[in-house]
Amino acid sequence: MDLAQLSDRILSGDRRALARAITLVESSREDHRTQARDLLERLRLSGREAVRIGLSGTPGVGKSTFTESFGMMLVGQGLRVAVLAVDPSSARSGGSILGDKTRMDRLSRVPQAFIRPSPSQSQLGGVARRSREAVALCEAAGFDVVIIETVGVGQSETVVAEMADLFVLLLAPAGGDELQGVKRGIMEIADLILVNKADGDLKPVATRTCADYSGALRLLRRRPQDPDDFPKAMMVSAMAETGLAEAWDEMQALVGWRRSAGFWTSRRAEQARYWFDQEVRHALLAQLETAGARAELDRLGREVAEGRLTPGVAAGQMLAGLDATRRAG
Ligand code: GDP
Repeated sequence: MDLAQLSDRILSGDRRALARAITLVESSREDHRTQARDLLERLRLSGREAVRIGLSGTPGVGKSTFTESFGMMLVGQGLRVAVLAVDPSSARSGGSILGDKTRMDRLSRVPQAFIRPSPSQSQLGGVARRSREAVALCEAAGFDVVIIETVGVGQSETVVAEMADLFVLLLAPAGGDELQGVKRGIMEIADLILVNKADGDLKPVATRTCADYSGALRLLRRRPQDPDDFPKAMMVSAMAETGLAEAWDEMQALVGWRRSAGFWTSRRAEQARYWFDQEVRHALLAQLETAGARAELDRLGREVAEGRLTPGVAAGQMLAGLDATRRAG
């Protein structure tokens, strides 16, 4: 593969080249990993930045519908939009594939948009790294907004928040006990809560739900990276396409505030550090997966189980062994 050519095509905004590059970063083949690293290193120099929006919500809340209407609205404003899905559950359950093209019929047909479903891999760690690299590729391809969609299954939100500039939580109109169901941790990472389906018969319930969440958000400790009125809750209807432009205005206001206060840059720097840390951990764990390391783990494990070595001493020997292998290789 000619990486210089692929890189040029991505920089010119070619969606087929982008799709091909994402396939490359999703591959776990060693030669593909090397090429992917080279490609990302070349593209890093473009310095392009998108607004990266993490979007989460339980199945059925309207993520696909919202992404389509919101994406179309952005395209209408002259912006280019990429949609990526992070779905750690899809491989295990065989269901809930986000970013499904058939569910974003209009958006998938406009040339200013790019939609990529989740890589099918069950391990959150692998999915996370690939998604982060896919986001970087979309930025290099000149997309203005990258929406990273994930299903609300707990751990995935935190991972998505680590690759997003803004985190949006989509909720459905519901009674007070629903409020209890949203984990505090997710409320704490949300910058914007959007109560969807604020239309027709559901409008009054949506209004109440929105008020409940506004109240709950006010009880959270104010975060230094936010202006006074954030995080906030708003109502939208993905179906009736109302509240979408207002939601975007709020997101832009938050981005503008964070940029001028220096939080945009510092957040991205923290994220880069976080992902570096993850890469190192990942690489170390991969070393334990080699055949020789497995055998050594088994052997030392037996010694510990039979009381001949303490866990600490055995772990020390294991690490020294890995170190020696690395130096020999
Ligand atoms: P996802 O699983 O979160 O991606 O949810 P979907 O986008 O597939 O939507 C789930 C269901 O909710 C579908 O039947 C949609 O038609 C419906 N829905 C989505 N947005 C709205 C909305 O704004 N208003 C109403 N009334 N229904 C909606």
